[in-house]
Amino acid sequence: MNQNDNISIKCPNSEHTNNVKLVCFDESCKGERLYCIQCIKNGIHVSHSQNQEELPKMFEHIQRVEIECDDLINKMTKQMDLLQQDFNLLIQGIRSKYQISTQQFLNLNSQQMNSYVQQSVNFRSFEFAIKQLLQICINQFQSQIAKSISELQLTELSYYQISNLYLNKSEELYQKGYKLYSDDKQYDEAIKILDKALNFNSKHQFALWCKAESLRMLGQYNEAIISADKALQIDQKNCNSLYSKAESLRMLGQYNKAIIWADKALQVNPKQCNLISTKVESLRMLGQYNKAIIWADKALQVDPKHCYSLYSKAESLRMLGQYNEAIIWVDKALQVDPKDCFSLYSKAEILKMVGQYNEAVIWADKALQLNPKHCNSLSTKADSLRMLGQYNEAVIWADKALQLNPKHCNSLSTKAESLRRLGQYNEAIIWADKSLQVDPKDFFSLRIKGDSLRLLKDYKEALKASDQSLSINPIQYK
Ligand SMILES: [Zn+2]
Ligand SMILES: [Zn+2]
Repeated sequence: MNQNDNISIKCPNSEHTNNVKLVCFDESCKGERLYCIQCIKNGIHVSHSQNQEELPKMFEHIQRVEIECDDLINKMTKQMDLLQQDFNLLIQGIRSKYQISTQQFLNLNSQQMNSYVQQSVNFRSFEFAIKQLLQICINQFQSQIAKSISELQLTELSYYQISNLYLNKSEELYQKGYKLYSDDKQYDEAIKILDKALNFNSKHQFALWCKAESLRMLGQYNEAIISADKALQIDQKNCNSLYSKAESLRMLGQYNKAIIWADKALQVNPKQCNLISTKVESLRMLGQYNKAIIWADKALQVDPKHCYSLYSKAESLRMLGQYNEAIIWVDKALQVDPKDCFSLYSKAEILKMVGQYNEAVIWADKALQLNPKHCNSLSTKADSLRMLGQYNEAVIWADKALQLNPKHCNSLSTKAESLRRLGQYNEAIIWADKSLQVDPKDFFSLRIKGDSLRLLKDYKEALKASDQSLSINPIQYK
């Protein structure tokens, strides 16, 4: 007590040279709790002067709270002990009722034997009832405990030093969550467990990363980025977290940003194929096909059988109109994985572009066998059938694509042109208009509309449509 009298603490107000003189113990005060003479002169805490004490009272307070806290913990532990005692009584009762040896049974009189059989045949239903009842009680109790822990708001305390108990619990939950993510692919469940892990240690880097990945797998890309960012605050060079962020950005269509974050990871690990893929696909979506090919080649130097890179290269070559080269690379992808839906679609589309429509239908069908809802493959099949003159069939397959994506431009124009070929000019105009709502500059749709109007002898409107189509780059001509 006396030695505490000599302790001096500088006033937290940096403009004050005095030491702390008083402490505010008011429960709802928001001001600096420790303060000096100068602070008093400035009039702080005057509204609740009855709760001000001199500094030595602070040390008495510390000791008192420590003792009271021990007291509380002792009482809580006793409550749990009493609970355990009651539980033991229950266990003992269950044993007494249901467990007897054959010898004990044989020593019973006939009335006792009868009673035992009567009771024990109902063991199963007793078992079911007690298990359920306990589970309900335990769930309630556990969730109340978890709530109480989270209400301690430990991670928000500036003086809190995370305990080993919490670190271990957090790690244990992370391992469980990781298994759900990695082995079982139960992403919703994984997130629940990982959130619990983060309750015990909000800075568990891998739990943050794994949560980001699970969210990404569920298509919740914005939330995935938030979690990846938290992981990157702890380690800004972690390739896995960087990949989660880059890939989520790519899925959100933010290709330039995706490339920036993929590049950061590639600085750390230039040979990680999935990272290169994120960059390649982003470049491809930005229309930078030559660059995409350069980067796909880099991935293929690391792993010549990296299917996604083989596919990306083929698609880039296709978009550059280099169909013969494109076929070579898509075939390599299909050698690695004959069931890669993307590559099967790519091959169908390339075959369509080189006029091999029957072949194109065959390969689109292979993709559709694996994924009957692959919109692009449905559209490629529809368009190939159109080119083969099977207009009714073409409409059927275009409709299937449009059921999945009513704004799929290629399917809309395929349907419009097929209807025009079938002589249904009014219908053709309706579907060409739908296509033009999605892409007002789609040359093919403008031409279908113009031709249909002309065939309906609406020359004025036809002229308007063909003027519009002439103003558009004829390279888009299909
Ligand atoms: Zn002061
Ligand atoms: Zn105060």
